[in-house]
Order: sequence, then C-alpha cells, then structure tokens
Amino acid sequence: MKKILVTGGAGFLGSHLCERLIANGDDVLCVDNFYTGSKKNIEHLISNPYFELMRHDITFPLYVEVNQIYNLACPASPVHYQFDPVQTTKTNVHGAINMLGLAKRIKARVLQASTSEVYGDPEMHPQREEYWGKVNPIGIRSCYDEGKRCAETLFFDYHRQHQLEIKVARIFNTYGPRMHPNDGRVVSNFIVQALQGQDITIYGKGEQTRSFCYVDDLIDGLIKLMNSQAEVTGPINIGNPVEMNMLQLAENVLRLTGSKSKLIFKPLPQDDPAQRRPDITLAGEKLGWKPKTNLEDGLAATVAYFRKALSA
Ligand code: NAD
Ligand code: UDP
Ligand code: UDP
Repeated sequence: MKKILVTGGAGFLGSHLCERLIANGDDVLCVDNFYTGSKKNIEHLISNPYFELMRHDITFPLYVEVNQIYNLACPASPVHYQFDPVQTTKTNVHGAINMLGLAKRIKARVLQASTSEVYGDPEMHPQREEYWGKVNPIGIRSCYDEGKRCAETLFFDYHRQHQLEIKVARIFNTYGPRMHPNDGRVVSNFIVQALQGQDITIYGKGEQTRSFCYVDDLIDGLIKLMNSQAEVTGPINIGNPVEMNMLQLAENVLRLTGSKSKLIFKPLPQDDPAQRRPDITLAGEKLGWKPKTNLEDGLAATVAYFRKALSA
C-alpha cells in the first residue's frame, strides 16, 4: 500500500484524485487550506480508514512521510486566483519549494499540476510541449501563469540539482461534478445560469476557443503520469483536443439543459487567451493515454450533478 499526499485534495480535481487513489488501494493524506475547496467534496471519504484530512497551507513547511506527492493546491478559476494574487503566487512558488523540499528529504516522487496557462495567449496552435508560450509578466493573470511557470522551473531545477523524480502535467480546461457553482469558470457558469433561467454570460464575442476534458479522463492521465517510468518527467499535456468556441459551448449547454436562457455579452477579461487546444501526441506515446469521454456525456453528467447540488 502506497502512502500518497494530495495537496489541494478538497478541491474539484483533488477530491476526484483522492477518491480514485483510495479505490486503487492507496492510503491518502489530503492537505488543504479550504481556500476554494470544501469539506463537502470529500465528505464521503472522511470515514474511510485509508483517508486522512489535514488543514494546512502549503506556503508553510510540511513534515510528513509519504511515498508520492501530487501537488494540486492552487485556486484554478481566474475569479479566485485574481482575488488575492499575492497569495496565488506564494502558493505556486513557496508551495512548490516546500513540496520539493519535502520530496527531497523523504525521497518521494512528486507530480506538479501545471497548466495550459503556461502557454499564455498562444501563437502556436495546437499547443505542443516544446512551445515556450506568450505570457504577460505583469497582467492580471500573471500571478497564476508566471507562478505556475516558476513552479515548473523549480521542479526541473530540483530534478537536475537534487535528482528528484518529478512529473509535470500541463492540464488543459477540465470540467465535471464538484466544480464550485460560484467558481466563475465557464462550464459551471453556463450550466448554473441555464438551470436557474438566468442569462448566459458570454465574454467578448464568444469566438475564443477552449478544449474541455472530462474530470475522469484527466485523473486517469495524472495517475498514469505519476506511475510512468522515472525518465518520463514531462512536461506533458493532458487534455481533450476537441476544440470549440464559447458560443458553441453555450449552445450545447442550452440543448442539454432544455433551458430558454438568453445569451448576453459582457466585456472580455484582460489577457483572455484567444485559442487553446492541446496536442496530446506525447501523452499517447509516453503514457498510452487519451481521453475517452465525449463532450455530450461529460456535460450530461455535470448537468445532472448541478441539478442535484442546486436543489439541495
Ligand atoms: P480548485 O480551486 O477546485 O482546487 C484547488 C484546491 O487547492 C482547493 O481545495 C483549495 O482550497 C486548495 N488550496 C489553494 N491554496 C492552497 C494552499 N496555499 N495550501 C493548501 N491548499 C490550498 O481547483 P482545481 O480545478 O481542482 O485545480 C487543481 C489544480 O489543477 C490547481 O493547481 C490548478 O492550477 C490545476 N489546473 C486545473 C485546471 C482545471 O481546468 N480544473 C486546469 C489547469 C490546471
Ligand atoms: N521542507 C518541508 N518539509 C520537509 C523538508 C523541507 O516543508 O520535510 C521545506 C522547508 O521549508 C525548506 C524547503 O522545503 O525551506 C526547501 O527545502 P530544501 O531542502 O530544498 O532547502 P532548504 O531551504 O532546507 O535548504
Ligand atoms: N467565459 C465566458 N463566460 C463566463 C465565464 C468565462 O464567456 O461566464 C469565457 C472566458 O472569457 C474564457 C473562457 O470562457 O475565454 C474560459 O474561461 P474559464 O474561466 O473557464 O477558463 P480559462 O480562461 O482559464 O481557460
């Protein structure tokens, strides 16, 4: 039985990861400061003897003994990571240093939840891992983008300098049950608005594109990466390459919810990337991974979750 630390384990992705690791027979230590996460996300795991919950902020040192570390702690929604941008950079940078220092001391393998945001507003399309990105260092998204880029730098320096076994996953937009209803991300916003008969808020003209991966597929990819051969460090893109613009996403949500909500147009936030789609060739070659869930099924499961959550 492996002892596994999941930071950010009470968040959207972290709670699915904890659940899956326990189902695989691992012993999980979930560390979270509940900044955007919630006890509700992990309520069903609390009584499991192989699940342990610790309230802790990873910008402070952490002394525990585990075999593997998944570092997911960091608010992921632009609304939340921009609310306290200094804390976002601290979580990304001090948090990474602490998790790497921990991994070094206990000789644990450590995986970083990096992001497609390291590519910024990309000029290369679709995005391949070799692309260095086009990122504004002083904009409102920089606390997250540059924080995550610095974390990648730290991971590779600890790997080169201290021979740490590292894994860097560049996660593209992921959606599914347990996204926070007020999270501000597009899939949760559109579904909640559609179910509540509110206007659907399209930012800009809605022509900007994203590629959405269902959470179960993403978790498969993270676990495959963590358990891959030592020489597979990444960075490696994990996401679903089916690309669409926000108007198309809104149409899909309206159709699946049967909602009569109208579309309204709001200003496009600063530095909002115009297009995003992962090239997942490397994940196929190195991990034998590709997403299995299509948008129709993934959105239907997410709509079902929000219907229940909003009526509770
Ligand atoms: P989330 O906001 O639901 O979860 C983040 C969790 O980290 C929350 O439980 C929060 O309370 C916790 N946290 C934040 N700061 C912390 C700190 N200093 N110490 C301890 N815990 C802290 O977001 P998510 O969608 O689950 O994202 C998880 C990770 O995956 C993040 O690192 C995010 O950057 C990355 N990621 C997510 C996506 C996506 O589409 N969901 C895309 C790219 C990258
Ligand atoms: N650290 C931690 N837990 C550990 C070991 C280290 O949280 O078990 C933190 C500690 O705050 C330290 C940081 O990780 O400052 C980096 O550790 P490293 O050994 O790389 O450097 P140090 O600062 O100790 O020289
Ligand atoms: N977006 C939108 N309406 C919303 C929320 C977001 O049109 O209510 C747009 C946003 O401008 C961006 C895309 O949807 O172009 C994805 O936004 P999200 O915050 O989910 O993720 P990110 O921008 O980090 O990819």
